Amino acid sequence: MTTQNSRATGSVSAGSVTLVGGGPGAAELLTVAAVTALQRADVVLFDRLSPSDDLGSLAPGATLVDVGKRAGSHPVSQAGIEELMLEHALAGKRVVRLKGGDPYVFGRGSEEVLACHRNGIAVTVISGVTSAIAVPAAAGIPLTHRGISHAFTVISGHAPLTDNELEGLTLLGSTIVVLMGVGTLPTLSQGLLRHGMPARMPVAIIERGFSATQRTTVSTLATVLADAAAAGVRSPAVLVIGEVVRLAFSGDTAANDLVARAADFAVTA
Ligand code: SAH
Repeated sequence: MTTQNSRATGSVSAGSVTLVGGGPGAAELLTVAAVTALQRADVVLFDRLSPSDDLGSLAPGATLVDVGKRAGSHPVSQAGIEELMLEHALAGKRVVRLKGGDPYVFGRGSEEVLACHRNGIAVTVISGVTSAIAVPAAAGIPLTHRGISHAFTVISGHAPLTDNELEGLTLLGSTIVVLMGVGTLPTLSQGLLRHGMPARMPVAIIERGFSATQRTTVSTLATVLADAAAAGVRSPAVLVIGEVVRLAFSGDTAANDLVARAADFAVTA
C-alpha cells in the first residue's frame, strides 16, 4: 500500500505527495488514514467525484484546489494536475491528491505515482472504498453470492470493448460492473447479446451513489437501452450486469417484477 521514492538524493525537499482514495462520496466512507492525511495536508488537489462538500473542515490547514473544474470551468489536464502536484511538493508542501473511490481503480493514480518517482518526490498511496463495490451495495446489490456468482469483473466503459473481450466476459459468467459506462452502454449491451448473453440478464444502473439523488434503474440486457433512455440516465453511474441484481430490493416493485419475469424465462427457456 505504500510506495516510497527509492532515489535517496539527499537533496530532496521535505515535501511529499499522498494519493488519497476518497471513497464513493460519503464522508463516512473515508478511511482513518485518509482523514489523518487530510488533517495534515498543506495543499489538497481534489477531483469532481471526490468527497468535497466538507473538505474545509476535513483539511483545515490546507489550500484547496479543485482540479476537476477550475477557471472558466475547464477541468485541468492530467499533465496540468501532475505539474501542480509536483510544484507544491517541490516547494516543500505536504500535498494530498484526493481522488474519488480508490486511486488505483481507473483513477490514473499510478501515473501520478510514476510522476513523483521521476521527480524524486516521496509518495504514498492510501486505498479508498471503490465505487465499483460500494455503489452497487448502496443499492442493495451484492457482487457475489454463493451459488449465483463467484466472480466479478470491473470494466471501464471509457472505450468500447473488443469482440474478444465481450466473448471472454460472456464465457466467464461473472457479475460485470461497469464504470464510466453510460456513453458506451449501446455497444456493450448489443455486444454481450451478440456473444450469447441471455436477453433477460438483469441489469441495474445506479446513478449518483451516496448522494441525496441516488437512483437505481432496473432492467434487462435486451431492454436496458430503452429503459435508460426513458429514465434519462446520466453519468456518474455504476452499471451491474448479472443475476445478483435479483437479490436487491426485496421491497422494490420494479425489481420484483423483474424477478418474476426472469423466473418465468428460466421455466420457459
Ligand atoms: N477511482 C474511482 C473510479 C473513477 S472512474 C473508484 O474507485 O470509484 C469514475 C467513474 O466511477 C464514474 O464515471 C462512475 O462510473 C463511477 N463512480 C464514482 N463515484 C460514483 C458515485 N458516487 N455514483 C455513481 N458512480 C460513481
